[in-house]
Amino acid sequence: MATQADAQELAALRALSASIGRSPHLTQAAGGNTSLKAGDTLWIKASGTWLKDALTDDIMVPVAMAPLLRAVEQRDRAADQPQGFTIAALNPRGLRPSIETTVHALMPQRVVLHVHCVDTISLAVQADGEAEAARRLDGIEWAYVPYFRPGLPLARGIAEKLRPDVDVLILANHGLVVAAETVAGAELLLRRVRSLLARPARTTAPPDIAALTTLAGDSGYRLPADVEAHAVALDPESRRMAEAGSLYPDHVIFLGQGSAVAGSGETVADTIARLDTAPAAILFPGAGVLMRGDASAGADAMQRCLADVTARIDVAARLNYLTAAENDELVNWDAEQYRQKLNAAGGA
Ligand SMILES: [Zn+2]
Repeated sequence: MATQADAQELAALRALSASIGRSPHLTQAAGGNTSLKAGDTLWIKASGTWLKDALTDDIMVPVAMAPLLRAVEQRDRAADQPQGFTIAALNPRGLRPSIETTVHALMPQRVVLHVHCVDTISLAVQADGEAEAARRLDGIEWAYVPYFRPGLPLARGIAEKLRPDVDVLILANHGLVVAAETVAGAELLLRRVRSLLARPARTTAPPDIAALTTLAGDSGYRLPADVEAHAVALDPESRRMAEAGSLYPDHVIFLGQGSAVAGSGETVADTIARLDTAPAAILFPGAGVLMRGDASAGADAMQRCLADVTARIDVAARLNYLTAAENDELVNWDAEQYRQKLNAAGGA
């Protein structure tokens, strides 16, 4: 840390990060990240760590910003591996910076918050998401960035859309970025944008826990960690949206491509036999969701996220799904495999 003011802001950012990390409507699992610029050093959340641990664990990594930005500008693939820009002397644990470090470096403001905000994602998967955001964000300096894989492709996409004074980015099929000169300013802006984008969730009947418990039996599947996760199997519109494909990257990374829905009268074993694979989660229409016994805490968080997102999507909207190629590039991506490994090791 260069100055006492920087140290104070970093402490404030850690407190805000922990609070953001505790809200399942803002971040899920190791998703989302926060940063502070101190001179030419960017302090950013480490890959695979959870924002909710920001006060109890050392999760911020220092990165040399100027060379990283140069790599983005030159379309140098080194920008896809931000660990190459870590300031080793200040990083005793050898943590890797977030794979989304370039998003933070590109924003000129000192404090950047990137969240997988449920209200934002539900809007940013709709084909009319940009127009709908425009209606709601009057008076805000914002930009809409089409979907790109996180890393260098997303950084290039942002660089093309950035204008002076833009402090809010809506990332299609992904999430939200807000930036300000202070932690307090960023927190206020996050709250404001969230409330402008908020839509009510459709309500559903309660899950049929008795039926799910019978279905789970000795199948190796279990109830999800959060009771909210069931809604995607209970609401026919949400189920239709989920079954049709993957809507955002962390879904693919933690749960696999799309969602598996049990057919009428099917058991867990029937569903697995039909699909020829044991999915991380199975949706039982009208009953709820079961998770594979070995599903990670991250998978549980993402299953709940799917329920929260789909319940807010306009049922009349046409949706943009990730393409087969976009699904594949996420699954086969080595930075993501690293993040997954940390997630599995770190658990909750
Ligand atoms: Zn993200």
